[in-house]
Amino acid sequence: LSFGSCNLPQKLLQNLEAAGYEMPTPVQMQTIPSALAGQSMLVSAETGSGKTCSFLVPIVSYCAKLKRNLQKPLAMVLTPTRELCIQVEEQAKLLGKGLPFKTALVVGGDAMAGQVYRIQQGVSMIVGTPGRLIDLLIKHDFELDTISIFVLDEVDCMIERGFREQVMQIFQALSQPQVLMYSATVSKEVERVASSMVKDLTVISV
Ligand code: AMP
Repeated sequence: LSFGSCNLPQKLLQNLEAAGYEMPTPVQMQTIPSALAGQSMLVSAETGSGKTCSFLVPIVSYCAKLKRNLQKPLAMVLTPTRELCIQVEEQAKLLGKGLPFKTALVVGGDAMAGQVYRIQQGVSMIVGTPGRLIDLLIKHDFELDTISIFVLDEVDCMIERGFREQVMQIFQALSQPQVLMYSATVSKEVERVASSMVKDLTVISV
C-alpha cells in the first residue's frame, strides 16, 4: 500500500511528500483504508508508530473533499494532555496546508474566550483535552451534531488520568460519529469504554 493508492486529494499527497512521508508506516497501512471507508476501530499503537497521521490523513482527506471551510466542525480529537494536543494540531497544519482546513485547540492554560471565538469563526477540526472541552461545551452550548469523526488518542492514558466520565459525556453530545481509538495498552477497561461507544468493534493491533 502507498499513500498514492488511497484515493487521497492531490494537495494532501503533496503535503505528505513535502513532510518526507514516502511510505505509510505499518499502523497507517492497517488503518487508513478502513478509516477512509468510515469504519470505527480500536487500534493498539505506541507513540512513534505514526498513529497521529493515521487519523489525520482520513480527517484531512474528508474535509478537503468537501472543498470549503466548514462553519461547523467535522472532526474532534481528544488527547490526555495539552502538549499532545499541540503536537496533533501541528501535524494537522502540515497535512492541511493549502487546503480548506482550519483547526481549533481547546486546552487549559489559554484564555477560553479566544478558543470560543475561533470555533465560532468556523473550523473543521477541534483538538482538545477532555476537561477543557467539557467546560467549553457546557458554558457555551456548542452544537456538536456535525462531528462525524471522533478520535480518542491515548485512551489508556485518559482513563488513568480519570477522564473516563468526561470522555463519555462528550461522546454522548455527538450524533453517532465514526470513532477512532488509539491505546498503547488494550486493557479490559479500554475495551469496555470502546465497546460502549461502538457496536461490532474492530480491534487492530500492529
Ligand atoms: P506518532 O506516532 O504519531 O507520534 O508519529 C511519530 C513520528 O513519525 C512523527 O514525528 C511523524 O512526523 C512521523 N511520521 C508519521 N508518519 C510517517 C511516515 N509515513 N513516514 C515517515 N515519518 C512519519
